[in-house]
Amino acid sequence: MALCRNVNGKRTFIKKPELLAPAGNLEKLKTAIIYGADAVFIGGKEFSLRSAASNFSLEDIKEAVAFANQYGADIHVTCNIILHNDNLTGLKEYLCALDEIGVKAIIVADPYIMTLAKSLNLKLEVHVSTQMSTLNSEAIRFYQEMGMDRVVFGREVAYRDLKLMRERNRNIDMEYFIHGAMCIAYSGRCMLSNYFSRRDANRGGCSQSCRWYYDIEADGQKLNGEDEIPFSMSSKDMCLVHEIPKLIEIGIDSLKIEGRMKSLHYIATVVSTYRKLIDTYCADPDHFEDNWYEAELQKSANRAFCEGFFDQTPDETFQLFNLRDEHPTQEFVLRVLDYDHEKKLAKVEQRNYFKVGDQVEIFSPVRDNLYFKVEKIYNEDMEEVTVANHPMEILYLPLAQEVSENDMGRKVKS
Ligand code: SF4
Repeated sequence: MALCRNVNGKRTFIKKPELLAPAGNLEKLKTAIIYGADAVFIGGKEFSLRSAASNFSLEDIKEAVAFANQYGADIHVTCNIILHNDNLTGLKEYLCALDEIGVKAIIVADPYIMTLAKSLNLKLEVHVSTQMSTLNSEAIRFYQEMGMDRVVFGREVAYRDLKLMRERNRNIDMEYFIHGAMCIAYSGRCMLSNYFSRRDANRGGCSQSCRWYYDIEADGQKLNGEDEIPFSMSSKDMCLVHEIPKLIEIGIDSLKIEGRMKSLHYIATVVSTYRKLIDTYCADPDHFEDNWYEAELQKSANRAFCEGFFDQTPDETFQLFNLRDEHPTQEFVLRVLDYDHEKKLAKVEQRNYFKVGDQVEIFSPVRDNLYFKVEKIYNEDMEEVTVANHPMEILYLPLAQEVSENDMGRKVKS
């Protein structure tokens, strides 16, 4: 729980909430940690939802834990499928292997995995997955009596209930979603994907059927309306950037970002923005200014934001309906690999098309954003080129301002 002290009239948080980030591969995991995540949740190749994103072998998890340890960060591994009988084989050995590697926690939905993990006397913590839709104090007490270490709330918990549960349930960790995609159904209670595409949302295969376009018919008549636009149920994305102070003040232990399938740019942008927000608020909560963070998050957003269930049950204004496709205002174009101070030359890796004349914003885990116009581009043979159009190509850019390895560049759209 976050701890606050008061020295000479100035409040400061001496224990901050954990910032928990998603990662679908090792590159994203390392980026999340470099950009300020205290912990990263990943899926293994087995027993995890989001099977398409869950590409961490035990060897990968070992590398992830070793990397995280260098930064004092933790790795959580999702083991949150609802087990069928044919999923039982190898489970015990898998949990023991995760424990041996030094994974901090497993995130679990099936009651059998909860009890098995505890009966094995492992060092790792057992966290109750959001798939269990934990929404009340008595359910928390139940999991606490089972020996669970943390509850990950369903996205359907409102702030007033969260505050009440924090007051009533002091002896268990609480994790709350602050950012990312929302289901239109209760989390973990949706069969649309199973029905339409035979892809099981509870075994990692959701085909996002709620975001498809549908014709609405009654008695053989299309009811799409005069403009003939098909219907979609897509929810806006959750963004609680303006509510983080409230969550810190009531002592939520972990603030969770959704998106193991999301891009490197998304992870770097979202993690670094919340990192800066949490650090700034905790250092001097009484003089905190919430004046920059949402605009920064918008740069990697591809849907409009809403606050989910935080203050109210979402209504139609929280849905996108026919406005599903929205795009970031800026586009990820490069990653910095090195900077030569003498030559004032940045070595970069191309990530998307850019050209001479483009305006680029560099953002960084260690300094404020900076802007420059691309004046010249050199290839690896130091030949001048006018466009960067080869994915992952190594390029050099003259740059008067200092940049650092792992900084990223976005093209600023006019
Ligand atoms: S189809 Fe939509 S509402 Fe259902 S599980 Fe998938 S994302 Fe969630």
